[in-house]
Formats: sequence, structure tokens, C-alpha cells
Amino acid sequence: MDIQKSKNGTASVWAGELEEFYERATTPPIVNSVTFGYRDLEEWHEVALGNKEGHIYSRNTNPTVQVFEEKVRILEHAESAIAFSTGMAAISNTLFSLLAPGDRVVSIKDTYGGTSRLFIEFLPAINVSVTLCETGHHEEMEEEIAKGCKLVYLETPTNPTLKVLDLKRLIKAAKAVKAIVVVDNTFATPINQNPILLGADVVVHSATKFLGGHSDVMGGVACGNTELIKRIFQYREITGASLHAMSAYLLARGMKTLELRILRQNQSAMKVAQFLSSHPKVEEVFYPGLPTHKGHDFAKEQMSGFGGMMSFSLKGGYDKVKKFLPQLKLVHLAASLGSVSSLAGPPRTTSHVELTEAQRAELGIPESLIRYSVGIENVEDLIEDLTQAFNTI
Ligand SMILES: *Cc1c(COP(=O)(O)O)cnc(C)c1O
Repeated sequence: MDIQKSKNGTASVWAGELEEFYERATTPPIVNSVTFGYRDLEEWHEVALGNKEGHIYSRNTNPTVQVFEEKVRILEHAESAIAFSTGMAAISNTLFSLLAPGDRVVSIKDTYGGTSRLFIEFLPAINVSVTLCETGHHEEMEEEIAKGCKLVYLETPTNPTLKVLDLKRLIKAAKAVKAIVVVDNTFATPINQNPILLGADVVVHSATKFLGGHSDVMGGVACGNTELIKRIFQYREITGASLHAMSAYLLARGMKTLELRILRQNQSAMKVAQFLSSHPKVEEVFYPGLPTHKGHDFAKEQMSGFGGMMSFSLKGGYDKVKKFLPQLKLVHLAASLGSVSSLAGPPRTTSHVELTEAQRAELGIPESLIRYSVGIENVEDLIEDLTQAFNTI
């Protein structure tokens, strides 16, 4: 069996777990050891030089972490993968290792809040210039990319209004100027979208979300071609933003059900989105699976499923949201997303709390918007729960 060619369901379970583990354990051992011993000094030297496989020190490599990395590597069709302590560690280490003073980045206004801070504050501080385009304005992006840049950073679908970028088109524009393309694939997951197969160089994930899938562990990962991942790895060796073995175990455990969860969440989210679109108290629904969604055509083209994330606005403004949300029984009202349990919150309070009302309006985020991450519960129960909450407002 060539795991490289296996289907998603098989890779989720078996990637990284085909070799025999310690004492023939059938689940990956959690190797908490900081260091790895050698009685043969020659072998130690060869491993330390990177000429021979093996582990030296867990800041650099660790056997449990490698199990998680291998699952992501196979599912994303990447040559190499490297894990991080959080999604933001993956994103910041990727950007800081691939960019140098004087370089230029082209990206979008709607990136994840933390990423956006890197673009607005931390990269300009080291003299990297960043141009942030209107999300979804492909012509503007093509023009900016054509002016020349070192790196194009994309995220699709975006948070919280699920805007969709045409990856093929933007990757083509980036290749024309030999720019590195990095894609944040957190919302789509490798089950629904594989940017590397569309030509992206590096894919990053907040593994905290769908990959782990249970809201009980934080992690991040970058994967892509070996040369770039090696550069990111050498940087991570020094920043020390490594993933802990226990976290890697939980992520790998969560990933065994990744395909099951995502297929279920795709289906349920579609039903919930359809229910919401026909509800008289809902103003607008943002879900790439709906034909009315602006990015539906690109989404259909580049995604094999539309994902478990959506948002919707209520008629009557934020006052209605304040009454509506606490009535829901089957969702956690909290930040984050991508868990087995449904989760909801207003971007006004969560992802976009630091912006003013005017800035949110500029990004197309209504004050009465609710972001909803559909879990793996029975979808009829979720719809019933939403129905009873609507009946109270
Ligand atoms: C959550 C998230 C991140 C950051 O990940 P952390 O694990 O919280 O550091 C990055 N990108 C996207 C799209 C996210 O949703």
C-alpha cells in the first residue's frame, strides 16, 4: 500500500503510523523525552549533521510530532511538513523565514486577525512592504502582483463572511513574477481543498481548528516543497515555536476522524445554510455552498466540499443578536471554530473586536453578523435549536 496514493479516509488514519512503534504499540506513543541518546558517537554525529534519520532534541524533531506532520503532509499532497505550537506560530515563522528587509508582499484585507497584524505592524517594522487588496477584487490583485513581489499570501474562504478567492487565477499571476504563494487552508481543510495541487508553494493551517477538531489542543503546521519547508524548519529551530508531543498526539488522534467529521460538517452546514436563507428573521447568509454566494463559482471549481463554517446576519441589528444567541442550547458561545460541537459568536465581539463599527462596515461585516461553526451533532437537532431561538425574538 502506497500511503502517498491513498484516499483521504485512509491517509487520515494510517499516515505516520505504518511503521512499528515502541513495544509494538498500535497507537503512537507520546514521546515526552527532551533528548535522544546515542552510544555510537559516529551515528550521533551523522544524525546531528542531518545525514541520517533520527532525533537529537525535541525542539528540533520528535517522533510523536512527526506522526502529526506526516498526516498533514500526505493529506495536503506536500513534499514536507513542519509542525508548530499554534497556527500563528506557523504563519509568523513562515513569513519571517521567507521574507527579508526590502521584500514586498501582496495579500488581502480579510486575512485572519493575527495574520493581518503581522502585515500591518510587524512586517513593516522590518522594512517588508505589504499591499493589502480588497478581498475578491481579482483584477486589483493581479495588478499589484504584476508590479513585482516576493510573496503572495492568500486565505480562502475568509473569516467571517466566507469570501472566496480564485486560487488558480491568483497563483498564475504570482508565478508570472516568481513569487512564493502561501495559502492559509484552515477554513477549507485538506479534505475540501488542496492548494498545493493548484500550484501553491506552502500551505499553512491552524491545527487548533478542524485538524484537531475537538477544541482541546492548539497547534499549527506549514507544508509544501522541501526546500521552502527546510528554510522554515531552520528558523523554527531557533524561534523554538515547536509543537509539544502531547499536543501532537491529540492532533494526530483528532485527525483520524478528519474525513468523517468534514464530510458530515459539509452536509450539515449546507442544510443549516438553506434553512437560514429561507428564514424570515435572517437578513443574509454567507455560505460558499449557496448559489447566491458571490464566490460560489470559484468555490465549486476548487473545493470538493463547502465546509462547516458560515455566517448570517439578523434583521433588526445587534440588539436581536444579544437576545438570540443566548437562547441557543446546542452551541458554545465562544471564540474559535472547527470542533465536534457547534460554536457561534458575533465577529463584533470575537475576531473583529478591535475594529470600529465603520471599519467593520468597510470589510462588509454587518453588526448583526453571527459566525456559526457547524459541529457533528444531528443536523435536525441543530435546526430545531435555531428554530426555537428564532421564536423568542
Ligand atoms: C485560528 C486561525 C489562525 C490562528 O491559529 P491559532 O492556532 O489560534 O494560533 C490562523 N488562521 C485562521 C484562518 C484561523 O482561523
